[in-house]
Amino acid sequence: MKKITIAVDGYSSCGKSTMAKALARKLEYIYIDTGAMYRAVTLFCMNSGILQGDKIDTERLEKALPEISIEFRTLPEENAPQVYLNGECVEKEIRSMRVSEKVSLVSAIPSVREAMVKLQREMGAKKGVIMDGRDIGTTVFPDAELKIFVTASPEIRARRRLDELKAKGSAVTFEEVLKNVQERDYMDCHREVSPLRKADDAITLDNTCMTIEQQDEWLMQQYRKAAE
Ligand code: C5P
Repeated sequence: MKKITIAVDGYSSCGKSTMAKALARKLEYIYIDTGAMYRAVTLFCMNSGILQGDKIDTERLEKALPEISIEFRTLPEENAPQVYLNGECVEKEIRSMRVSEKVSLVSAIPSVREAMVKLQREMGAKKGVIMDGRDIGTTVFPDAELKIFVTASPEIRARRRLDELKAKGSAVTFEEVLKNVQERDYMDCHREVSPLRKADDAITLDNTCMTIEQQDEWLMQQYRKAAE
């Protein structure tokens, strides 16, 4: 089978990364979680005082952007790539509610998107890559051989995110998570640059009533059709 580019886009907390990671492992493809990159930039802005409340000092951010290093490293004891921001592992921190609440604000800034898209194109230049995000099939890799657009009901998505956060020891409520999921969806769909939308040639997957195994099997079938 030829090496292809797989774009997995969709709403927040749809299970995109779970399915993308599983497929990448099976195919021995590189997996890139682009949401983690925007989360890392958001954390940088919060820690450096560039973001205070909802106010972003865009001038300072633009000056700082070339110095922000974002890498994915897979350590032998981990089975998935971990995100490093300027050499420090930030995997846990970037998944916190405090970052989730600000990430859509930061990811709507054109200079941030430009820098991340450039990096994502470099990371996926050799194909054999599965990338998940919001604009992979529309902007980052519009020529991807396989494009999946994932959706599920907001309540199911919030429930899944809540379970993940609770497993990590976070004391959040269902209502807080649901509100965050809905607000991010709204902001991601209504921003000016690269809003979240289904590419015309993407295949929709509504996984509201699917198990992880059914979803993995469905994705494998789509891959076989696209790569043969
Ligand atoms: O995928 P995840 O929920 O971790 O993404 C976090 C946020 O990063 C999204 O809500 C969105 O604002 C932003 N994002 C984006 N473009 C991408 C991936 C994520 O704007 N390609």
